[in-house]
Amino acid sequence: MSYNEEKNKVEKSFLYLVATPIGNLSDITERAMKVLSEVDFVAAEDTRNSGLLLSRLGIKKPMVSYHDHNRAERGPEIIERLKGGESCALISDAGMPAISDPGEDLVALCAKEGVGVSIIPGACAAVSALALSGLSTRRFAFEGFLPPSGKERKKRLTDIAKEERTLIIYEAPHRLKKTLAEFSEYFGGDRRISLCRELTKLNEEVLRMTVSSACAYYESTEPRGEYVLIIEGVPEATEKDVAVDIAARAEALMAGGMSQKDAIKTIVKETGLPKNKVYAEVLKNNE
Ligand code: SAM
Repeated sequence: MSYNEEKNKVEKSFLYLVATPIGNLSDITERAMKVLSEVDFVAAEDTRNSGLLLSRLGIKKPMVSYHDHNRAERGPEIIERLKGGESCALISDAGMPAISDPGEDLVALCAKEGVGVSIIPGACAAVSALALSGLSTRRFAFEGFLPPSGKERKKRLTDIAKEERTLIIYEAPHRLKKTLAEFSEYFGGDRRISLCRELTKLNEEVLRMTVSSACAYYESTEPRGEYVLIIEGVPEATEKDVAVDIAARAEALMAGGMSQKDAIKTIVKETGLPKNKVYAEVLKNNE
């Protein structure tokens, strides 16, 4: 048996995380079809939605629901069945299970209980949007859905406003305008954003603009469909920027009557930079 055939075998007592399409049924993979057809049962976030998907794929399987509100009881039940020798495919409403979807807890439970988990990779809205965004993909931070409101949301927006990596955020259409207004407040209107909508569907669209242009655009256009927002990070400060900042700050402090020694102490306290680095920069500037 070749390696590929070996890996494609559905094992007893295994949980399979099976990615499903995010809008285009043709994105289902051959392995996903095989595993969904061969496992003993399917755990799904919404059994009605997933039942429809399976019937479109021509697959009939016993299903159990596994979602946010029943995961505490349902998780251990699924583990018991897996330990008893059954195999299970976990699918979410769309895309990659366990990514802003129930599943994370079930994988952790499997790891704790020594139950094997395998992946059948496929569509994921976050990575698809990032690749399409036209923004830097070198380093990125996935934020999923932001906290819906209150202090938690404010804190998250304040924290991610300083993020140097490209940000990936999921958003629902009815919240988009409010979220863009907050991006403008916390990140500034000049920050570049790619609004990736209805990926893989008939109305797929990617708008690449600044946050303030996006706010203006949605004053006259009603947001529709599912969105992933990709936002550029804060440019990383270069060594040169830091040196200029230190020099300028020292000059300002000393112009106000502070000694060079105290200016260095103050800047170290303010920036948390190593004292020898601050000392070297200030000295260089005053030679
Ligand atoms: N597990 C999924 C994945 O693989 O990305 C994400 C599930 S999360 C509950 C649903 C969110 O994903 C939506 O609110 C939207 O932000 C994003 N999403 C899902 N499908 C999408 C699509 N076709 N186009 C754009 N965004 C999509």
